[in-house]
Amino acid sequence: MQANETTQTDKKPVKQIEIAGMVVRYDRSGAEWLVEQDGRIVERLPPGAAGKEAAIEEAIHQAIPDLHQMARYMALKNPVLRTRIWKAAQLVANGHVLPARPGNLVNEVGQVISESDEGTLYSIQHRDVYLCGCEDYQFEQAPRLGSTGDQKYCKHVLAFVMDRQRRQMAASIPMIQPVEEVAYAD
Ligand SMILES: [Zn+2]
Repeated sequence: MQANETTQTDKKPVKQIEIAGMVVRYDRSGAEWLVEQDGRIVERLPPGAAGKEAAIEEAIHQAIPDLHQMARYMALKNPVLRTRIWKAAQLVANGHVLPARPGNLVNEVGQVISESDEGTLYSIQHRDVYLCGCEDYQFEQAPRLGSTGDQKYCKHVLAFVMDRQRRQMAASIPMIQPVEEVAYAD
């Protein structure tokens, strides 16, 4: 596939995708997607959109294995959301999910920093279903799922749901620390 080739001759910096300390970038000379950590290549993937997706998945796998496992399982169960789930995992991996602003909006449950514009924050609200103000959500592109079919899933709603689930899992891990070591905690 030549999807990544352009006719431009000016030296544009190669766009790289950063995921929790890993770097995903397209190497034009080798015609392959690279996953790098500390400047070292950890994975090489074929050119094209599928290779790019696989490279992003691999970077998440390397950086945050439990998030990768969650996204992989969600994508298997909900193939229609596959692309959005991996974009959401990228948002979670990069810490783009933020808590609600106290007192700002009654129904706000969290915020998600835009992937493309870090100055844009999407407020995630809950009124029967999760709501998001992004175009994907507002203009009915995002697929509807759920028992009643009322919940639309853009990548921001998915990122919020995934982040919350991970926090709940972390909070539910039993405390097995011996009593005498409590003194060493912060
Ligand atoms: Zn959204």
